[in-house]
Amino acid sequence: RVKEKWAATRPKYPPTTLALQHFDATYSIQLGQLWPSVRVALLSEKKYGALLNNFSYDDVLADLQAQGSRDFISDTDTQAQPCLEHKSADGVEEESSVDAVKKSDLSGQQLSPLQLSLNIKCAVFPRGDITRFKSARPDMFGLLSYYLMDAASVLPCLALDVQEGHSVLDLCAAPGGKTLALLQTQAIRFLCANDASVSRTLRLRRVLHSYVPKEVLTAEKLRITSFDGTKWGEIERNTFDRVLVDVPCTADRHSLMEDDNNIFSKSRTGERRGLPQVQLELLLAGIEAACPGGEIVYSTCTLSQIQNLRVVEQAICLAGENHGIRLEVVNLQPLTHMFKKTFHFAPDLELDVTFSSMSRGTGRIIGPSGSREDE
Ligand code: SAM
Repeated sequence: RVKEKWAATRPKYPPTTLALQHFDATYSIQLGQLWPSVRVALLSEKKYGALLNNFSYDDVLADLQAQGSRDFISDTDTQAQPCLEHKSADGVEEESSVDAVKKSDLSGQQLSPLQLSLNIKCAVFPRGDITRFKSARPDMFGLLSYYLMDAASVLPCLALDVQEGHSVLDLCAAPGGKTLALLQTQAIRFLCANDASVSRTLRLRRVLHSYVPKEVLTAEKLRITSFDGTKWGEIERNTFDRVLVDVPCTADRHSLMEDDNNIFSKSRTGERRGLPQVQLELLLAGIEAACPGGEIVYSTCTLSQIQNLRVVEQAICLAGENHGIRLEVVNLQPLTHMFKKTFHFAPDLELDVTFSSMSRGTGRIIGPSGSREDE
């Protein structure tokens, strides 16, 4: 009989178990009665959406619909009359219908409507239907017709509210699902896709080459970089109309599924504890990179308030204190109303924002987002 040599070095608990213990301890307090059902969702098999590729010659939406899926973005809940609630730094709230709401300038007077980038299409099977999409096939030009991703990952791209001619920075872009969704709008004048990891940036490049024609991947339209995003403020300030800050996080579902390279492994404890600081630095860099009047979306795939709400609150505060940048928070409730047929959203979150400096009025907007797809 061979003695099991690994026994001495094997951790008492695998990282997936440590992750579950951690979530049980923290989320049972944070989410209360919701936690048991959220826990089941996190432990269930991941359900994919199919992001349709507008650049592909093959129009496969009809085929996917015939299989029982639907484009959740065009098939919104039309009964809901969403209101955009703008909350200025000093906590004053305004409400108006989504058609009439305008983006705030310094005085908070002029607000513009949230216009969804309807070129983005994402097919999902109905609630309770766990049918898997087949792998996409290349069209006659070698481009794939759809990209499989968590459908909830499309929401930050919709919240970014990209408009014709915008320049966009995707600060943590690899492997590229959201970059691809943003390109589907076909509205972006210039896109910069960055990721600190060189190997993951290569993956991003491969994804883009499998989905996007060469004419769109030219240097005038697209720049792919591998910089440390926390330093972006030193590289390029006041530049982009839209900035997506999709930060590294505890990736809750992934951490419960995969022991390899798990952020809850003992060897990565320091990195895990440092996440909120890195997230804050990335968001602050994204804020600096946005032009006055530009919009920033901060997104994660964790339920942790320390990595979501607290980071946004601190960034707003520090942007004001250290850089004199005034931000206006947009409540993304209209989006949650529109897509409540498809997703369960977290209850409304209250940002606690206090400004110490109000000197620079740039009217930038941050929209914290968090959702989970119905299982
Ligand atoms: N937006 C991507 C997508 O939709 O496919 C997923 C991004 S993933 C949640 C977070 C990414 O942040 C990782 O690819 C990681 O390499 C990158 N990252 C980590 N630290 C970074 C930093 N300091 N600057 C830029 N990117 C960073």
